[in-house]
Amino acid sequence: MMVEEIGYFGMLRNDDAAKMEIREMDYLVVGAGLAGTVLAHQLLKRGHKTIIVNNGTMQAASMVAAGLYNPITGKKFLKTWKSEMLFPFMADFYREIEQLTQTNFFYPMPIEVPIDSAEEHNIIHGRSAYNDEEEIKIFIKPADEKLPIKNALGVFYTNHSGFVDVAAFLKVSWQYFASKGCMVDTLFDPTEVKFKNNEVLWGNIKAKKIIFCEGYRFAQNPFFNWLPIIPTKGEVLKVQIAKGDEDKIYRKKVFLIPNGNEQYKCGSTYRWDFDDDLPTSSGLNELTQYLEDLIKSEYLVVEHLAGIRPASKDRKPILGLHPIYSALAMFNGLGSKGVSMAPYFAHQLVLFLEGQITLEREINIERHYKYFTNHA
Ligand SMILES: Cc1cc2nc3c(=O)[nH]c(=O)nc-3n(C[C@H](O)[C@H](O)[C@H](O)COP(=O)(O)OP(=O)(O)OC[C@H]3O[C@@H](n4cnc5c(N)ncnc54)[C@H](O)[C@@H]3O)c2cc1C
Repeated sequence: MMVEEIGYFGMLRNDDAAKMEIREMDYLVVGAGLAGTVLAHQLLKRGHKTIIVNNGTMQAASMVAAGLYNPITGKKFLKTWKSEMLFPFMADFYREIEQLTQTNFFYPMPIEVPIDSAEEHNIIHGRSAYNDEEEIKIFIKPADEKLPIKNALGVFYTNHSGFVDVAAFLKVSWQYFASKGCMVDTLFDPTEVKFKNNEVLWGNIKAKKIIFCEGYRFAQNPFFNWLPIIPTKGEVLKVQIAKGDEDKIYRKKVFLIPNGNEQYKCGSTYRWDFDDDLPTSSGLNELTQYLEDLIKSEYLVVEHLAGIRPASKDRKPILGLHPIYSALAMFNGLGSKGVSMAPYFAHQLVLFLEGQITLEREINIERHYKYFTNHA
């Protein structure tokens, strides 16, 4: 029986899969958060026979991510790493998937930032002199009073920013993969992998490569648990604010992203020391405190979510092959910038796997081979 003939919304359970004849694939992608989903789209588009295995019941950072992308960062308002390449690529990618799935989840919009010190004011004035730089546009405007925010010295706006409704992107993508009969909903156990010549076998699936995109659960994978990825917990709130402006994002120590119906996502926290992936009262206190520093309006917390980011030690993504098992690959380490990094670096990984490019050292998993002690 062919996989495409199975009902169940196009998804296969592992026990269904086990009963079937060997299915020859090019790639088996494990994990369908931002990393795995973006990668799978690109593999399929280029004609590679791909199967995606994702455990839909596990918590995924991508499902709680606020989805913000912002070309400037830090106290000096500098351009983010490689934004001149990542941002146009990202925009083309998400627009293409919107067209493919006939949905909307990509929302370019300016970010309004209050300026609250003379030092910040000077830096912004300096940066706004570079207004003709196409990749960043910082321009100072009077504050918009639709949603009154607290600011002493005015506000500035960034251009080339916005957000992706990541949960919506993932849901339509999973439906698309399911409709193509290439999504399996189960927990993938790496110890079940068998190696044969240069290929891998998992149940009845034979693939040239398995690409692990497991987010912070890399730590349970005996092949890759040596990587310096630091699980970083984050929390966000959904808040209701009457009379807000739904065409822009507000940002200071927290951001407010409009989600329609006077609801906003407000985030995020960063914690390196935690016991679980659940929302906490300290996270709630931190976010509401910063929110009250930003806006003058009343608000109501309607939801509180938490997730764990896979942040690499050097804040760069990690992609490439296992040091010994060349049939195993990895795409991880997207940290707090999965939305903007995933499309470009998934593409780099695909070109690398096709033998068209070598990976730059700063993103190549090889920079971490020194941590590997062959305990897999
Ligand atoms: C509170 C919060 C706010 C954030 N806000 C932003 C933001 O505004 N902008 C931004 O760019 N980024 C943001 N991020 C970061 C972003 O979420 C991450 O960069 C991104 O989601 C990482 O994606 P991933 O696919 O690597 O991991 P995940 O999203 O964790 O996905 C991993 C997937 O793999 C599956 N999986 C793992 N192991 C297995 C297995 N063995 N078998 C089967 N399935 C498996 C899991 O079920 C999951 O679906 C935020 C994160 C958090 C927590």
